[in-house]
Amino acid sequence: MTTHSNQRHPKGLAVLFATEMWERYNYYGMRAILVLFMTKALLFSKEFSSHLYGGYTSLVYLTPLVGGYIADRFWGNQRSIIIGGLVMALGEFILFFCGSTYASDPQLSTFLFFTGLGFMISGNGFFKPNISALVGQMYPKGDSRIDSAYTIFYMGINVGGALGPFICGLVGDTGNPADFKWAFLAGGIGMLLSVLIQYLFHKKYVKDPSGNTLGLTPAAAPGWTKNLLITVSGLAVFATISAGLLYMDSGLAKINHWGFNIGGIEIGTSLLTNLVFLLSASIITIALIVFTDKTLSKLEKSKVLVIFTVSFFVVFFWSAFEQAGASLTFFADEQTNRDLGFFVVPASFFQSLNSIFVVTLAPFFAWLWVKLGKNDPSSPTKMAIGLFLLALGYLWIAFGVSNVQPGIKVSMIWLVGMYAMHTSGELCLSPIGLSLVNKLAPLKFASLLMAVWFTANAFANYLAGALSSLYPDGGVAKNIMGYSIHNNYDFFMLFVVMAGTAALILFFLSRKLQNLMKD
Ligand code: GLN
Repeated sequence: MTTHSNQRHPKGLAVLFATEMWERYNYYGMRAILVLFMTKALLFSKEFSSHLYGGYTSLVYLTPLVGGYIADRFWGNQRSIIIGGLVMALGEFILFFCGSTYASDPQLSTFLFFTGLGFMISGNGFFKPNISALVGQMYPKGDSRIDSAYTIFYMGINVGGALGPFICGLVGDTGNPADFKWAFLAGGIGMLLSVLIQYLFHKKYVKDPSGNTLGLTPAAAPGWTKNLLITVSGLAVFATISAGLLYMDSGLAKINHWGFNIGGIEIGTSLLTNLVFLLSASIITIALIVFTDKTLSKLEKSKVLVIFTVSFFVVFFWSAFEQAGASLTFFADEQTNRDLGFFVVPASFFQSLNSIFVVTLAPFFAWLWVKLGKNDPSSPTKMAIGLFLLALGYLWIAFGVSNVQPGIKVSMIWLVGMYAMHTSGELCLSPIGLSLVNKLAPLKFASLLMAVWFTANAFANYLAGALSSLYPDGGVAKNIMGYSIHNNYDFFMLFVVMAGTAALILFFLSRKLQNLMKD
C-alpha cells in the first residue's frame, strides 16, 4: 500500500483507469456511429436523428442522479458499477440485434433501438457517478496526489474516448449500413471487459488509505435491496422509463397515438413529452432545497450561487461542443474530403479527435497554469477563455466553408483544427469547473451540487440535439430567433455568436463571481 508521504499512486488507480477506459470506449464507440446508423440504416431524417441524439445524451447525464442516490444508500459503488456496466453491455447487444433486423423487420428494430438506448441510459446512471467518486476516496483528505489522480483518470477516459470511435468506426462505419451492428457488438465486448476488470481487481486493490476496500455495500442497506429478483425487476422498470421518456420526447408517441387523456390533458404525448420539463424541475428542486436551508450561512449561499451561475454558462459550452456526435458527424460524412488516396477515413473517426487532443494537449495546459503562477487567471476567467476558444474553433471552420458551393467537399484540416481549438477550450473549462464545484459546495450538499453540474450537462446535450437539427439540409432555410440558416457558414456562425457572447458576459462577470466566493 502507498502511504501519504509516498508520491506514487495506489494500484487501485490503475484498476479504476482501466475500468473507466473500457466503459468510455463503449460509450464513445457507440456514439460515433449513432447518428450515422439512424440516418443510413433506420432511415430517420437528420432533423429527427439530431433530436433523438440530444434526448439520449441528455438522459445519459440525468440518470447519474438516480444511480448516485441508490449507491449511497443501498448498493455501494462497486455493486453499482458492475450492475450499471452489465446493463450497458446488454444495451449494446440489444442494439446489435436492432442493427441485424432493421431491413427485415423495421418495426421490431425500432422497438429494439429504443430499448437498447434505454438500457444504455440507465446503465450509465449507475456506472459514471460511482466510478468518479472512488478515485478521490483512495487518498487521505487534502492529499496533494488527488489532483494528479483525477488528471490520470481523465486520461483513461480519453484513451477510451479515442479508441472507441476508432475501433467501432473501423468495423461498423464501412459504407455498408448492414455493418453498423458490428460497432455495437464491439462496444458491448469492451463494456464486458470493463466489468471483468472491476470484478476481478476491485476488492484487492481499490482501498482507502487505511487499507479497507472502498465502495462496498453499505452495512445499513436493507436486505431486500440485494435481492436478485427485486434488482432485476427494478432495473427493467428503470430502463423502460428511460426508453419511454426518450420515445415520448422523440414525438413518435404522438404520431402513434400513445398516451392517455386526463381531463382533456394528454399525458404522455404532450404534457410530458418534453424532457426540458424534467430537467427544469430537477434544477428548480435542487435550488429550492439548497437556498431554503436555514443552516447555511450567507457566504455559503453566495458560493452556491456561483455554482449555479457557472453551471448556466457551461450549458452554452457543451451544447456547441457536443455537436461532435451529431451535426459535425453529418458534416464529416457529407462535406469533408476524407480520401487519403490509399484509405478513405470513416466519418466516425473524427469523433476520436477530441480525445486524442485531450491526451496530447493536457500536459501543455498543466504546464501553462503552473508557469503563469501568480498571474494564473481565476476559475471563472479560465472558463470564459474556454468558451472563447470554442467560438474561435467555430470561426475557423466557418471560414473554411465560406464561399464553398454546396456539394463541394472541404479539406479535413478544417475539422481537425476546429477540434484542436474545441479541446483547448474543454481543458480550460471542464476540469476547472468541476474542481470549482467541489471546492465551493458546502459539505452537506456536495453530491447534490455535483448533480447541478451533471444536470447542466444534460440540458446542454438536449440543446445540442435541438441545435443540430438546424444543420442545413436539402437547401431549405431554417430559422432560430430571427436568424436564418441557409448554408454551413450560417450554421457555424450561430455557434460563434452563441459561445462568443457567453464568453464575453462570463468574462465581465468573473470579478463579481470572485467577490462572491471570497471567504
Ligand atoms: N469527455 C468527458 C467524459 O466523457 C467529459 C464530458 C462532459 O463532461 N460532458 O467523461
